[in-house]
Amino acid sequence: MGDLNHNIIDQNLIKTQAFIDGKWVDALSGQTTAIYNPANNNIIAHVADCNGDDTKKAIISSQQAQPAWAAKTAKERHTILMYWVNLMMENHDALAHILTIEQGKPLAEARGEITIAANYIEWYAEEGRRAYGDTIPTNNPAVRLSVIKQPVGVTAGITPWNFPASMITRKGAAALAAGCSFILKPAPETPIMALALAKLAHDAGVPAGVFNIVTAGKDNAIAVGKALTDSPIVRKLGFTGSTPVGKILMQQCAAHVKKISLELGGNAPFIVFNDADIDAAIAGVMVSKFRNAGQTCICANRILVQDGIYDTFMDKFASAIDAFKLGNGLDDNVTIGPLINQQAVEKADRLLHDALQKKAKNIIAGGAYDHDHGYFCHPSLIGDVSEDMDIFHTEIFGPVASVMRFKHDDDAVKLANNTQFGLAAYFYSRDVGRCHKISEQLEYGMVGINTGAMTTVEAPFGGIKESGLGHEGSHQGLLEWMEQKYICTGL
Ligand code: ADP
Repeated sequence: MGDLNHNIIDQNLIKTQAFIDGKWVDALSGQTTAIYNPANNNIIAHVADCNGDDTKKAIISSQQAQPAWAAKTAKERHTILMYWVNLMMENHDALAHILTIEQGKPLAEARGEITIAANYIEWYAEEGRRAYGDTIPTNNPAVRLSVIKQPVGVTAGITPWNFPASMITRKGAAALAAGCSFILKPAPETPIMALALAKLAHDAGVPAGVFNIVTAGKDNAIAVGKALTDSPIVRKLGFTGSTPVGKILMQQCAAHVKKISLELGGNAPFIVFNDADIDAAIAGVMVSKFRNAGQTCICANRILVQDGIYDTFMDKFASAIDAFKLGNGLDDNVTIGPLINQQAVEKADRLLHDALQKKAKNIIAGGAYDHDHGYFCHPSLIGDVSEDMDIFHTEIFGPVASVMRFKHDDDAVKLANNTQFGLAAYFYSRDVGRCHKISEQLEYGMVGINTGAMTTVEAPFGGIKESGLGHEGSHQGLLEWMEQKYICTGL
């Protein structure tokens, strides 16, 4: 526990057991799994390694707890959820430190994520009070038609390691605000944040069984997922992760026609047209490409720059990348942290070298970087990328900026849409006609025009094609955890 024994962290927040039915419990098997600090490879804790049996226990607990939670008024749930928000804000610094130690992102980014995670709870707490139904003008004087919204029931979430706090509240708080109980399987790499959030939820008054956390290492994660999807009691699964795993879970959910929402992989184009404000585009691409060391599903993955400004853009981009300071996210002035594990470093490095071998231009040399036993990857910039390179088709999930040149608008749209993914796309232009036309032509669930950062609790986050199903955030995010019931009343 050395790294987590930091003077800023309230040790009461550090939990290593699973949280089932309001109690901290070991895995039934007694097994634990080691959690590493990606900045130095230190073991920071051993956490309960649950399996299908623990999951079944959590499902029963959630089933017992859900009716009473659903019976509370939306205002009562709002009060408890807002208390949870307040506890997160009171523990903001400690939570941010836990996040950096467990996941690696620089402290400033970790603080931002804790705020966003709390914002999701606040948003859904408020939206829960506005889950309005409909009354419909009747087709027959002898009947009345209406629609009400009700909680789905027992629900589950499976979350990734790249946003260990906000991915949980973006699902869990929606479920709770809707009146569902929620069983979470956090990522094997980042369970400590999930458990800290559960502790605060419990302290805020979320009743036993309403928010259960089943932690598991990589191997048992599959068994936990299977137990959740196999159970007819669980009526909905919200998942964020890779497209291949999303497909497996979708198949598993088919057995009971379980409701499902999926936030999967991306391959975001970031297009800069000749008429763009280049400095604004540089600021945007720096955020979009390098946030979380390039480990977000909406990161700029293919940067497409028009011929007329290509050289100027590349000069400015190279200077901005040069200014990064790589290191342990807890250290002062560090602006880019480690990747999550050694495989992530190897993947980014492999994609970089494949591109260089196929004649991409090496502008800022980067890649795997040996430092303090951590999983570091130095930011890099390559130009003249082409469609035959693996990096064009693959989600990089690392700090490699990959830039292509294009001539005409139609070329950019064609390149941008040449992928099975459809999560986020960005472009920079000052021409209003082009802005309308290109945003309509891009086959993506989210389009940022003249901005590199568009995620916010108020807006619907979600992808099309193989990037997913459904939305999180916005009023739509709440409805994913509710059923719509049509009622026809004869008079
Ligand atoms: P990544 O490669 O970024 O870790 P994954 O899609 O593999 O993305 O993992 C995202 C989440 O899905 C994690 O919580 C992981 O444990 C979980 N997961 C991976 N495979 C399965 C599976 N077969 N069933 C259920 N959950 C899974």
